[in-house]
Amino acid sequence: MKSRLIDTHCHMGDDGFDEDRESIIEEARSREIAIISSGVTPNTWRKNLDICRRYDNLYASIGLSPAEHQHLEELLEVLREHRNELIAIGECGLDYYIERDHEIRERQSEVFIELIQLANDFNLPIQIHSRSAGKYALDILKKQDAKMVHMHAFDGKSNLARIASNEWGYYFSIPTSVVRSPQKQKLVKAINIERLLIETDSPVLSPERGTRNTPSNLPVALQEVSRILRRGEDEMREIILENSCRLYKKLR
Ligand SMILES: [Zn+2]
Repeated sequence: MKSRLIDTHCHMGDDGFDEDRESIIEEARSREIAIISSGVTPNTWRKNLDICRRYDNLYASIGLSPAEHQHLEELLEVLREHRNELIAIGECGLDYYIERDHEIRERQSEVFIELIQLANDFNLPIQIHSRSAGKYALDILKKQDAKMVHMHAFDGKSNLARIASNEWGYYFSIPTSVVRSPQKQKLVKAINIERLLIETDSPVLSPERGTRNTPSNLPVALQEVSRILRRGEDEMREIILENSCRLYKKLR
């Protein structure tokens, strides 16, 4: 399928899509939206891979939610077994919003470091979750010499994103919730335009709070980014598509 837009991060294996997944994916397909779908819990890894095999507009990423840090060994097995099917590793990273315990935060960092090294070994991009931990996640990535970095729904300081995108070449995806988030709107202006991506993070981060998000909402993020940067939507779409294909070389 020829794609006009890439939803660079979402979760099509989520239980919330069990009733109507087929039509949700077909709807995105009819709008020429390709989707990178991420499985981040032990019970969605294989489910996500199965779903991605069935559709030519879906690409699989496998990672580990920071809350699932105890499942690293099982994850490594799945990653090694399905290495050739993956477009990326992730999401993975740190979550300091939910986790306050120092020792568990340490454990999250250890798992994170292991996955950065694996992504480098596999020569794959890595998708990063860094809720309330943007600065810490960026520090670790830099120290570990991560090669192809995609920061998703970054909630850290804009200035950090400016440095990471300009000086380190890290990519940042703006979610559909940008329409209701002043922090994300500010972030758009800070990111190097050649490092800008968009995502839905479906089923969450919907443009409308409290509703289920789907990849077909992706144009909302494009429109808002175009408005903020005062660029034409077609021009912005081309730039973002080019960025997506530069980072994700397996996109067809
Ligand atoms: Zn996500």
